[in-house]
Order: sequence, then structure tokens, then C-alpha cells
Amino acid sequence: MLRNKEQDKRRWLDLAPGDPVIVIAGKDKGKQGEVLRTIPDQHKIVVKGVNILKRHEKAGQRRRGVQVAQGGIVDFEAPLDYSNVMLVCPHCGRPTRAKHTVLESGARVLVCRHCGEPYERVRKTEAQ
Ligand SMILES: [Zn+2]
Repeated sequence: MLRNKEQDKRRWLDLAPGDPVIVIAGKDKGKQGEVLRTIPDQHKIVVKGVNILKRHEKAGQRRRGVQVAQGGIVDFEAPLDYSNVMLVCPHCGRPTRAKHTVLESGARVLVCRHCGEPYERVRKTEAQ
């Protein structure tokens, strides 16, 4: 099937920073957390408290343009694959593959497949 970049991008908007998700695969299976950021180019997502790795840093090292003041071991959330998480419906509390619906007003919303309630989010990053 031919898929263009536009379709990929749209699919990515399923999840946005701040969304509650549950991990359905991998070493952190079953953990729940909040989406911190999405990395569309790599099909990855960073979830708060999930996929914690340790990074060894040396004082004086530069990371993302910021000088590391103190050396040591730093916990950080590593990106995990987008397909390893599911949105958790705030209405019924169940993991769901939300479906897209267009309201009569023309607004696009996600709707929970279990309870049918629309999932509304406070969009922090509409355009990235
Ligand atoms: Zn629901």
C-alpha cells in the first residue's frame, strides 16, 4: 500500500504531549504515564516514568548545547516505539484505540471505542 508522508503525520497526531497512555509491550508493559513528547520522525514517543535508562555524564560535557555542571548518573526517559503504547480513556479508564470522528461543527475529535465518549485534550502543541 502506498503511504505518503501526509498520512504518516496525521497518524502521529493521535497522541500529543499530556495524553495519558498505557504501555502494552516491552519491559515496561502495564505501566501508565503521561506523554512528555513525541518524535514523529522516528515513530517514537517519550512517556513520563516509562523506559527509564541511566546516562553517565561527565562534568564539563556539553549536552544539547548545555554544559553539564555535575557529573554522575542521570535517570532519563528513553523514547519507546509509538506502537507500544495505547491511549487510556479518561472516561472509562480503559486502554483504547481511539477512532477519529468529525463533529457536525467540523471539529475533529477522538472517540473512545469502549464508551463512545469523545476524548478532549488541551492542545499544547498544535503545530510542531
Ligand atoms: Zn472510554
